[in-house]
Amino acid sequence: CALGARSARPGEFSERAFLNGRLDLAQAEAVADLIDASSAQAARAAQRSLEGELSRRVRELVEELTQLRMFVEGALDFSDEDVNWLADDGLRQRLAALLEHLRALLRDCAQGRRLREGMVVALSGQPNVGKSTLLNRLAGSEAAIVTDIAGTTRDVLRENIVLDGMPLTVVDTAGLRDSDDPVEREGIRRAWKALEQAELALFLVDDRAGVTAQDRALLEKFPANARRVVVRNKCDLSGAAPGAFAQDGEDHLRLSASTGIGIEELVAKIREAAGLASGSEGLFSARTRHVDALRRALGYVEDAQQRLLEGATPELAAEELRLAQD
Ligand code: GDP
Repeated sequence: CALGARSARPGEFSERAFLNGRLDLAQAEAVADLIDASSAQAARAAQRSLEGELSRRVRELVEELTQLRMFVEGALDFSDEDVNWLADDGLRQRLAALLEHLRALLRDCAQGRRLREGMVVALSGQPNVGKSTLLNRLAGSEAAIVTDIAGTTRDVLRENIVLDGMPLTVVDTAGLRDSDDPVEREGIRRAWKALEQAELALFLVDDRAGVTAQDRALLEKFPANARRVVVRNKCDLSGAAPGAFAQDGEDHLRLSASTGIGIEELVAKIREAAGLASGSEGLFSARTRHVDALRRALGYVEDAQQRLLEGATPELAAEELRLAQD
């Protein structure tokens, strides 16, 4: 350095590889994903994107789109001839196949994004129903403090855990009650705000008491965005068989956090809510940006399909396909 050399900036070699065309953007992003990976599964997915899996799938789609555009635009050029190329069955089939491939990639990307960005799970319920015990069971460690004194977790709002390779942010909403204390009120306000971002709400009750009037009052205030599961904990004490059932239009799941009975079914439900198929081994990492771009492309191709089916404005269909490719 004294002779004029300098240390590389963070990410400088990846930047150069990108600028020199040896990595594409999705691969360069995968380098960051690999560094940030919060589980072995997420790291493997990032590795796969780094090797070009996501880019390869996108290139295949672009190739299909290019072929379709050539056909449609060619047909428009010869539209004053007798044959109506655009009514061709082959074209419809290719368009349908493209849509199917696009949707499949979108699904895989949404899963890959999950592995990277995780999911917010709200854990709630009255004091002493076993929230901390369940959190520890899911985290596989002593992440939360378990006591039999009511209200011990009132100040703990967020906990990041990795469950079965999935990063989860667990928001504890134990303290959701009316209060005059301004500090506590602020905490409660934030807890509700966090809850609004939750995609899955686990509401715990003691299976011996079931869903009480107090529970119902809290459940009613829950934002509707989250999928909800009423977890009936302590089934080892109530003696009821573990497992899922429906009651009053709610999903119920009976288990025991302290013995671990029924936990597997809960993990399966969480995976399902995250949109992660059971075998997520072949996944590659993806980001919100990728998912958004694919969604927009899908929208354009769907519009193009609609226009071609109607047959009135094929020029616009060609334009939609161009936008999709962009
Ligand atoms: P929280 O206040 O909702 O976080 O409840 P805790 O997790 O602190 O649990 C309260 C008490 O219930 C503790 O003594 C736990 O050991 C006990 N407990 C939690 N889950 C179960 C369970 O499934 N079975 C039994 N028998 N006890 C449990």
